[in-house]
Amino acid sequence: MKSNPSRRIAIVGAGQSGLPLALALQARGDEVTLLSNRSAAQIRAGRVMSSQCMFDAALQIERDHQLDWWARDCPPVQGIGLCVPSPDPAAPAGTRLIDWAAPLHKPAQAVDQRLKMPAWMEAFEQRGGRLVLQEAGIAELEELAASHELLVLAAGKGEIVNQLFARDAEKSCYDAPQRALALTYVQGMRPREPFSRVCFNLIPGVGEYFVFPALTLNGACEIMVFEGIPGGPMDCWADVKTPQQHLGRSLEILQRYLPWEAERCRDVRLSDELGTLAGRFAPTVRRPVGRLPSGRLVLGMGDAVVVNDPITGQGSNNATKAFQVYFEAICARGEHAFDAAWMQATFDQSWAYAKDVVRWTNMLLAPPPEHILQLLGAAGQCPSLASLIANNFDHPPAFFPWWGDAQECQRLVARHLQGQAA
Ligand SMILES: Cc1cc2nc3c(=O)[nH]c(=O)nc-3n(C[C@H](O)[C@H](O)[C@H](O)COP(=O)(O)OP(=O)(O)OC[C@H]3O[C@@H](n4cnc5c(N)ncnc54)[C@H](O)[C@@H]3O)c2cc1C
Repeated sequence: MKSNPSRRIAIVGAGQSGLPLALALQARGDEVTLLSNRSAAQIRAGRVMSSQCMFDAALQIERDHQLDWWARDCPPVQGIGLCVPSPDPAAPAGTRLIDWAAPLHKPAQAVDQRLKMPAWMEAFEQRGGRLVLQEAGIAELEELAASHELLVLAAGKGEIVNQLFARDAEKSCYDAPQRALALTYVQGMRPREPFSRVCFNLIPGVGEYFVFPALTLNGACEIMVFEGIPGGPMDCWADVKTPQQHLGRSLEILQRYLPWEAERCRDVRLSDELGTLAGRFAPTVRRPVGRLPSGRLVLGMGDAVVVNDPITGQGSNNATKAFQVYFEAICARGEHAFDAAWMQATFDQSWAYAKDVVRWTNMLLAPPPEHILQLLGAAGQCPSLASLIANNFDHPPAFFPWWGDAQECQRLVARHLQGQAA
């Protein structure tokens, strides 16, 4: 048996999971067809899609595959901070109940997908890959499944995903959007000192706002992410018609709830006219093996099967980690058929990690329990706790069991406070 047989593999969706898989399989000599519903030029000239902050473990996967082409240009995200405004209406404006920040052991980075995806698509084609520009429907999937040994659907939140992969009710705890989302890419924001960071602000009963440095089409920027509780005062984008109105609404929110963040924004401007986004979706886990009318199989990857709310900034990280699991499983398969059992086992392997990411993210969408409020408060007095919370963004399974268990959490806090006193 040959050690590295060339396989015929089709991937639908040129995003954060599909493109690295296409490039990695191409690099090992597979015959790869990649279907995208948009050309590189259309993506580059289009609207922002994400805030795509990636932590070190996911960045390392890109480095391992020589896909980290923006590492030098992209401003680093050196830490994570948390602020909670005082709920006391009598407190002077700008009073904070919680305010801490901790450095990351290794920096995170956010590269605008409008830069990244087109560059990867062009490289895939230049290296001899077959890139087909087409919206995949059932007929196109049938054709690809018939002419390839494996068909991977990595179409993100695309409509085709609903047709192929049933929602897994056991793994999905919400059936409706939990936040009204908005992105605002800006330049001219005053940087955070002494280290750059994801500034995470939690406004009880209203939602969350976080902001961090990134690389966009015309250089460095800051990405503002708004997560408004549906029906609340931060669910406020429906009447916004122009990019300037979107920026204006973003600043109004900061002035009203987070004056310390508004202060940084005195001189901000939009990075570009398409640097805004508003929308909402339900966090959903789907069954990963789809069956076409012909009976042929389709394997789901990335957001197509595990879509998280962006509140914890995990989607691109998950998509990258899923790609690595799928890539290794394809390599390990040798010449054997990619059957339903292999597909399910491949997803299960990636789910073994993703399940805790989903659990943690879904918990953060609900009002925080008492032990989490105590933990977040204690981190303000205890740098080792702050560091633990910040660095676990790179590996959310490390939040468990204590994030979900009040007693474990109290023990952890006590240990850290004692360690500090010793
Ligand atoms: C507001 C917001 C903020 C976010 N912030 C972060 C963050 O800070 N950190 C983080 O890690 N993640 C973040 N994410 C999530 C992250 O962007 C996604 O999880 C990630 O891009 C998923 O990768 P993917 O490959 O599964 O899908 P995508 O990257 O979405 O790629 C799917 C591709 O498939 C294409 N497609 C769809 N349908 C079809 C079709 N029928 N035929 C052909 N092509 C098709 C799409 O055009 C797209 O190019 C955020 C998401 C949002 C919405």
